[in-house]
Amino acid sequence: MIIDGKKLAQKLNEQSRRQALQLKARGIVPGISVILVGDDPASQIYTRNKDRLAKKLGLHSELCRFPGDVDQETVLRKIRQLNADDQVDAILLQEPLPKQLNEEALIVAIDPAKDVDGLHPLNLGRLFSGQAGNYPVACTPKGIMTMLDCYDVHLSGANVVIVGRSKLVGKPLLALLNNRNATVTLVGRQTKNASAITSQADVLIVATGVPGLIHGLDVMPGAVVIDVGINRLASGRLVGDVDFNEVASKARLITPVPGGVGPMTIASLMSQSIELARWRRLARYLL
Ligand code: NAD
Repeated sequence: MIIDGKKLAQKLNEQSRRQALQLKARGIVPGISVILVGDDPASQIYTRNKDRLAKKLGLHSELCRFPGDVDQETVLRKIRQLNADDQVDAILLQEPLPKQLNEEALIVAIDPAKDVDGLHPLNLGRLFSGQAGNYPVACTPKGIMTMLDCYDVHLSGANVVIVGRSKLVGKPLLALLNNRNATVTLVGRQTKNASAITSQADVLIVATGVPGLIHGLDVMPGAVVIDVGINRLASGRLVGDVDFNEVASKARLITPVPGGVGPMTIASLMSQSIELARWRRLARYLL
């Protein structure tokens, strides 16, 4: 069966739209600010899509653009200004950033209560210590967890393998799944006999940016396969990191690209921005 990320995302967005409406009745409009540096074409498309959807759902959305040669202090000043702005609930630093910027220092400067990508060390610490409660988690992993839950994928005791160890996808997923009592293996470039490991997985999640990395032989019959990759081929076609045709015939459940994880990431960004707006007011007893 193919997991319909588009349909699930529509449901989640409809829920977000209703929540935004309820908050509006109480004078609260959740606000998202995206910081975009340079003119990377893919980032421009992502940020434009985020901006459009946020406005459609009734959120306040603003794009803070900087030229590719901007200096660290200018971006830091913007982050401090957004931290202090009560209209802003969610701050997102769009990657990739140019080399002259110190990304770690910029992330640490974001108010953890507005860190919608869950990359601030305080939020990562909460996630990795298994803390329950109100803190943000990276939107792609969050969207994947929602997807697995909506399709009733049993996680406790399941053997889950994640291919790709990035801080935005692989690592937070490791913690989220481990917090749900899954047995999680993280596979990287240096992993020996990766195919022997992936082919044991009840749930296989692939986030490498290598088109068609995972073939039929790398997957256990009946596995659940989540393809995070978004790769544009020279022909212009979008493909994932999984050879869909080969793997779909073996998997019990599989996500397509496009129409799988992508829409869930952006829907999770919206829903988490609304949650941040609520949590910040709850923390001040305003809700
Ligand atoms: P990244 O480049 O930060 O990380 C990729 C990871 O994969 C690294 O840990 C790298 O070492 C590992 N890797 C690379 N080749 C490998 C191999 N042959 N075997 C094992 N591991 C390997 O990328 P990212 O931000 O995690 O994104 C990964 C992919 O997912 C990209 O295609 C990106 O466009 C896509 N992505 C999609 C969404 C979405 O919403 N669908 C969100 C984020 C990223």
